Amino acid sequence: MWSTMQDHPLTISSIMRYGTEVFGSAEIATWTGAGARRIPYARLGERAARLAGALRGLGVDADQRVATFMWNNTEHMECYLAVPSMGAVLHTLNIRLFPDQLVYIAGHAEDRVVIVDASLVPLLASVLPRFTTVRHVIVVGEADTAPLEPAGKELHSYEELLAAAPASFDWPDIDERWAAAMCYTSGTTGDPKGVVYSHRSAYLHSMAVCTGNAMGLAAGDRVLPVVPMFHANAWGLPYAAVMAGASLVMPDRFLQAEPLIELIAAERPTVAGAVPTIWGDVLRYAREHGSDLSSLRLVPCGGSAVPESLMRGFDDLGVRIVQAWGMTETSPVATMAHAPAAAEDPWPHRVTQGRVLAGLEIRIVGDGDVVLPNDGEAVGEVEIRGPWITAAYHRGEDPARFHGGWLRTGDVGTLSPDGYLVLTDRAKDVIKSGGEWISSVELENQLMAHPDVIEAAVVGVPDDRWQERPLASVVVREGAAVTAAQLRTYLGGRVPKWQLPERWAFVEEIPKTSVGKFSKKTLRERYAEGALA
Ligand code: ADP
Repeated sequence: MWSTMQDHPLTISSIMRYGTEVFGSAEIATWTGAGARRIPYARLGERAARLAGALRGLGVDADQRVATFMWNNTEHMECYLAVPSMGAVLHTLNIRLFPDQLVYIAGHAEDRVVIVDASLVPLLASVLPRFTTVRHVIVVGEADTAPLEPAGKELHSYEELLAAAPASFDWPDIDERWAAAMCYTSGTTGDPKGVVYSHRSAYLHSMAVCTGNAMGLAAGDRVLPVVPMFHANAWGLPYAAVMAGASLVMPDRFLQAEPLIELIAAERPTVAGAVPTIWGDVLRYAREHGSDLSSLRLVPCGGSAVPESLMRGFDDLGVRIVQAWGMTETSPVATMAHAPAAAEDPWPHRVTQGRVLAGLEIRIVGDGDVVLPNDGEAVGEVEIRGPWITAAYHRGEDPARFHGGWLRTGDVGTLSPDGYLVLTDRAKDVIKSGGEWISSVELENQLMAHPDVIEAAVVGVPDDRWQERPLASVVVREGAAVTAAQLRTYLGGRVPKWQLPERWAFVEEIPKTSVGKFSKKTLRERYAEGALA
């Protein structure tokens, strides 16, 4: 029989109403480079209502797409709340993409409005004439808008629009399955693909992020999303914080180690999420300057494999990094690596990608779609399903990634009997040497534990005898004189001998993607051009 329970929709508008009314005195603070500007959630809610009214006044209706071209700040949060709650669709544009990719994405999503931070006006101006579906551009803050004029769009001031709009908005009833927001994958292979989140998926993802097996957010927390709001929804931290009544601390454009540490010391966040490359910079700076990171009770970290040396370095400062795994397609948080409370040694668990969150299911699949055992040994592609996993790409692209209700993640790894996922590689980065697989992630992890190594990225390069062999690109500490032979000897005690790279490149920096990951594609290209090793 059917239950007697109410079928109440799970929506972003209900997160907004709950957080900004019940926790009206929580605050959102945005770093200015010298101190923070701050408003209480009650005011955030009012400003979201004004923004919705202003957008409606510009003709934004139904499921029209409103794009943002913004840093993590108060106004971006207002867009996060207002746009989906009025029934429209928020599209976060990744400001670091190549112009052609931005043009492709804005056209593919059919963006109607772009809201842009003043500091990003020059960047937007270079692509705006080719944003053919866009009618309105709304500028946040003081900017010279002359560079935007040749594009022939209607230009508006964000603050003027808000000032002229009513302080309340008649939020519509929304079907929880309706599109709320969209985000494109960063397109490391082929054109970027669009993922469209629903109100329901965002709501359930926020609840999952708030659980103790994930980040355990609660009122009293101060949450610092360093991970950009244009990259996989800043890992869902903004909505989860509002749902939990936790305050938000926004870094705006101050993403280097020094200002981040200044911000952490001043604003005392308790939870802060960023990719490993950012935390690596923060750790080096904090060690050199004896910085105070003690307010942080939890640092969720992911986006690429988190080196054990990074986690141990933060442990020494009394700050706990917990590895998370996910992707744009998974909203994104899917697993988190908390060790079991009873574990004598937490490290074998902490270095994994973690256990899947309640609500999701995960499995390892081998050749011919054969489901492999969860024995911690069988290696195959990770597949996942659940209420915040996308079932398709926008406009049905790349259908081969979906089968029987599962998403093929393109990640390769193992699953232990007690549910810990270990990723050995992305399918396209696996190194196939003489019929055996070498895990680039494992080699990188070991190399980055060497005291003289700052960053290390390993890619497969063609080899006549073995088909592929690993090439290690290494950034060493300033003043260090470590040689390839020494690094090989160091690795020799830690990985099987046949996996040791014979090709080494000492570089000033590992090239990064638009979201701060090692760009292995660029490394392979540089090697092919003879620019490495
Ligand atoms: P892109 O696919 O363009 O890199 P995403 O940000 O969606 O964009 O990246 C998701 C991918 O990032 C995952 O499929 C996985 O390969 C990688 N990733 C995320 N978290 C981790 C992690 N903790 N360890 C290893 N890889 C990770």
